[in-house]
Amino acid sequence: MGKDLKYIRFPAGAHKKYLDGVCYELDNDTDTLTITYTGKIYDFFLKSKTPYLIDRYGDKKIQAVEIISFFLSLLLYAALILYFFLLNRIEYAKQMFWPFIITDIGLIIFFFATSEQFSKIKDFHKNSLCKKCGRYFAYEEHNEPIIKEVSSRLKYEITITRYWECKFCGNKDPRIEDLNYYQQNGEREDRKNRTCRECNKEYALIEYKLPDIKIENDTATTIRHYECTSCGYHEITIKMKNLPD
Ligand SMILES: [Zn+2]
Ligand SMILES: [Zn+2]
Repeated sequence: MGKDLKYIRFPAGAHKKYLDGVCYELDNDTDTLTITYTGKIYDFFLKSKTPYLIDRYGDKKIQAVEIISFFLSLLLYAALILYFFLLNRIEYAKQMFWPFIITDIGLIIFFFATSEQFSKIKDFHKNSLCKKCGRYFAYEEHNEPIIKEVSSRLKYEITITRYWECKFCGNKDPRIEDLNYYQQNGEREDRKNRTCRECNKEYALIEYKLPDIKIENDTATTIRHYECTSCGYHEITIKMKNLPD
């Protein structure tokens, strides 16, 4: 399990910090932390083949492949569970252990990935329509997208802004989408207030709001918010932890 801890320090009067290409901005009046960084240009394995596939098969067939692949992967997963159930009951099941496991898991991954790719083809086709000139596969990103995470007292929001531009008519169409990483509030750390790094006053550094936890793929990121009651120093700690499978 990997662990990674970062400290972002704001001496009294400081509101903005840059670290490793990420901008941290603190609004002391509203206790809102804004984290901004660049994301990746939208891409997926079959992106370059999408215009050809849509042209040749149409979006109805593409959607059918997506749904059928998804159900096949579920069916193969059910077969795997059934196989383990029969393993100790039927002698023959034991003999074909590895060929069965490798084939079944390989096919689950294949059909699941196919379903995911075809779902992206469908979305990309829909989203590539220029609102001005009405052509499909018109939009290209003219800048890297900006990801913004806003942690306020009430909520934690993650959005991505993509800068689309039509390659035919030049229409610019920036779009903001929500990124739905699973988020929750954690608990305050169960320990006494710490000594402030800035003014050295003992017990002055308090964790002044509940930590934010976001879960993306298999990494949990915990952001904790500290404030010195004596000198106004603020500190944010960011801890990344790989989750066990
Ligand atoms: Zn256009
Ligand atoms: Zn202090």
